Amino acid sequence: MRVCKFGGTSMADANCISRVESIIAADIGRRYIVVSAPGKRNKADLKVTDALYACASAMEDRDKFDAAFEKVEKRFISIAEELETDMDMPALLESVKADILSRRSRDFTASRGEYLSAIILANKLGVPFVDAEGLILFDENGELMLDASLARVAKKLEGVPRAVLPGFYGTAADGSVKTFSRGGSDITGAIVASAVGADVYENWTDVDGFLSADPRIVKNPKLIDCLSFNELRELSYMGAEVLHPEAIFPVRRAGIPINIKNTFHPTAPGTVIVPDSRHIADKNVITGIAGKKGFSIINIEKEMMNSETGFGALVLSTFAAEGISFEHMPSGIDTLSVVVRDECLEGKLPSLLASLWRATKADSIEALSGLSLIATVGHNMASRQGSAAKIFKALAARHINVRMIDQGSSELNIIVGVDTFDYEKAINAIYAEFMGD
Ligand code: ASP
Repeated sequence: MRVCKFGGTSMADANCISRVESIIAADIGRRYIVVSAPGKRNKADLKVTDALYACASAMEDRDKFDAAFEKVEKRFISIAEELETDMDMPALLESVKADILSRRSRDFTASRGEYLSAIILANKLGVPFVDAEGLILFDENGELMLDASLARVAKKLEGVPRAVLPGFYGTAADGSVKTFSRGGSDITGAIVASAVGADVYENWTDVDGFLSADPRIVKNPKLIDCLSFNELRELSYMGAEVLHPEAIFPVRRAGIPINIKNTFHPTAPGTVIVPDSRHIADKNVITGIAGKKGFSIINIEKEMMNSETGFGALVLSTFAAEGISFEHMPSGIDTLSVVVRDECLEGKLPSLLASLWRATKADSIEALSGLSLIATVGHNMASRQGSAAKIFKALAARHINVRMIDQGSSELNIIVGVDTFDYEKAINAIYAEFMGD
């Protein structure tokens, strides 16, 4: 049994939705379907969710609101007409508009894209529409209540052999509609897959799968056939995008693999993400390379630092007291560096430095910006010698200065910090070393 989530580009217009119908019809195991709102039909197009956010922003000016909502109406009316549904779309849109105007909530407004998209697909497939309101639950702090949501979804779908559910939203502690962050339909799909005990969670999108490097930096990077949840987590944390990062947790806990598939190329096997790297036959040393720009490094030096008990704790508690989270903390004998994202430092650097001087009584403290991090990820690195050597050889050969090195204890990931002006060159160098033909 499979749970399928179809993203915005898969639901963008009647033509795409017809493809979705054929994909579902091709396998009777595809029983529970989660959908996004219609996305972009071309680069210049507007996503329905963005059109709805524009409606929410125009709520106080009725003329502006009507003009913004007209864009949403047009999209859904043409979809319903071209699909030849037997729905009264204008009447449905009228009632959605009235609900938006009476609830006056940004999240509720944004959620109507998924709501309408799911009703249309359910109608076409002739299966029940099951609303996510009251099933996906959030607590008082706005955090997902995973166990409670799983229980609600499982109970609701018991005895319902097939259904279409809207992604992206659920119910907040006060009973109002609340959305996930952008791209959150991936999380809804993962919750449904876990709740019904699916064999596979299929995530249908508009690419053939997960690429081993950013195609804007590396020319024609190879597709990853299979990777583990841990590898996915490392790569998506470092900027590789295909799946919402929080979509991993519900399925990982249940041991359900995710298959990234392409709606516009359904016969391609896509990328499979498995719970454990032992399930991967692939013998490549590395699985992928990802990276991010925009980091700074704070270097702290103090004589005899190594014998001062609690020095690291003192440094990190100073960062915490200033409300700054850190990413990495490489250290030497009498030196310790803290790597932070630039946006976390914004406006806070002078006060952080003053607090660090006061707390640590260090000999020197300096802050350097312009750092980029590059993660080379691969489960096979743990069992092989020479992976780090290859990375540094590739960088040295191109005269790229490595400003920081960090290897997690799982040996799944080697992170190097380079000057931002060397970022693209460094990624290409590592890619060519491991994956170049
Ligand atoms: N429609 C929402 C967005 O554009 C959620 C989703 O597609 O997953 O972010």
